[in-house]
Amino acid sequence: MGDMASGEYKDLECCIEERPDGFYVVRGDKAIGPYDTLLLPETERRKIAEELSVTEEEVKKALLSYVPSKEPEPDVIDIRLDEVRAELHGKKVRVKARIVGMSDPMAIPRFLKINCECGYGDVIDLLDERELITLRHYLFDRKKLGRRLCSCGRIGRLVEQENEMLDCTIIHGLDIAYERFGETRPLRIYLVGARLPRGVREAEFIGHVIRDRNNKLIILAREGRPLHEVRYEPTDEDKSLFKRYFQELKPEELLHVIDRSICPEIVGRPEAKLAAALTLHSPLAFYFEGKLIRGYITCLFLGDTTTGKTTIILWIFRNLGLGFFGRGDLTSEVGLTGAIDPESNIIIWGLLVLADGQITFIDRCVSTVS
Ligand SMILES: [Zn+2]
Repeated sequence: MGDMASGEYKDLECCIEERPDGFYVVRGDKAIGPYDTLLLPETERRKIAEELSVTEEEVKKALLSYVPSKEPEPDVIDIRLDEVRAELHGKKVRVKARIVGMSDPMAIPRFLKINCECGYGDVIDLLDERELITLRHYLFDRKKLGRRLCSCGRIGRLVEQENEMLDCTIIHGLDIAYERFGETRPLRIYLVGARLPRGVREAEFIGHVIRDRNNKLIILAREGRPLHEVRYEPTDEDKSLFKRYFQELKPEELLHVIDRSICPEIVGRPEAKLAAALTLHSPLAFYFEGKLIRGYITCLFLGDTTTGKTTIILWIFRNLGLGFFGRGDLTSEVGLTGAIDPESNIIIWGLLVLADGQITFIDRCVSTVS
C-alpha cells in the first residue's frame, strides 16, 4: 500500500498511505489524517509539515508523487479439494466440495477497532481481503492479534465491535469425485460472512488457503453456494412424459424398455436393470394395516467380475445424477455411518447418512473394511 512508484522519491521525509477504508494518511514518524482526498489546502499542508517536522516542500512532493497502488485482484485458482497443499498457502482458490459435516453456526464480529488514545481508532473490517491475516489470527491465534498502529501514529489494542456480526460455520468437505470416496480425508472449510442452506450436499467455495492453530491447512472462505438443488421434485412435464411412456406398457414391454433405458451399453442383464429400477422407485416407507413400515428396497448384485455390476450402478449414479457412490473396499464402517472429528468436535457423516432419503451405491460391498 502506498509504495513509491520508483526509487526517485525513496528519500522523501514523508509519504502517503492509503488505508483499507480508502482514506489517506500522510506518514512521517507518525501518521497524519485521515483524509478523503489528497487535494489538501495549503493550511492543511503546513499543519502536516509542522506535525511531522518536515518542510512544506516535502509534504507537497509526497502528495504529488503518490501513485495509487491498486493491487490487481488475485487470480482464483481452481483446485480439487484434495489438492490443497503448503504451496497454495495464502492463495485464493475455488473448490467444489461434498459436505460431510457442518458445525452449528457461530457468530464473530465483523469489525475490530484500535482502542487508541486519539479516540478515533481505526476500524478493521474482517471481511476485507487485505485483512486476511487479521481474520486468521482472530480465529486461531488471538495472541498474535495484539496491538496495532493507528493512523494517528499511536499504538492501540484491537477490540471487538459488537455492532455487526458475521456467520461462521466450520464445514468438513471431501472432493466431489465419488469414486474416490474413502480415499481422502475431509478438509475443513471455514465459511465466514456467508451461509449455506440446510441440507446442502455439495457446494462451491471461494477462499484462501491458510493454517489453523495446529498448522493444518484449511480454506477460509467468504463465498459458498450450493452446486445444485437439494432435492428432485417432478415437474408437471415429467409426470405427463412418464404417463406417455410407461402407463400404456405391458409388463413384457416394460422389461425391454427398462433394459434399453438403463445403461444401454450393457446387454443381456435385463433382470439386473429391472431390480435397479424397482429399487430406485421404491418408496421410503408406507402404511400397511395402520403401521408405517419400511418401503425401500435393498438390492444386492452378486456375480463374477465383468458381469456389469459396477457399470450399471455407476451409469445410474453418473447419468441420472442420483444419490451417493462409494467403494466398499475403501470405506470402513465409520465411512459408512459416521465419526466425530476430534479437532472440531463435528460429526462427519458417513455414506449412508449422507444419502438419507436418497440412494447409496456401494461398489465391492463384500470387501467392506471391518
Ligand atoms: Zn489513534
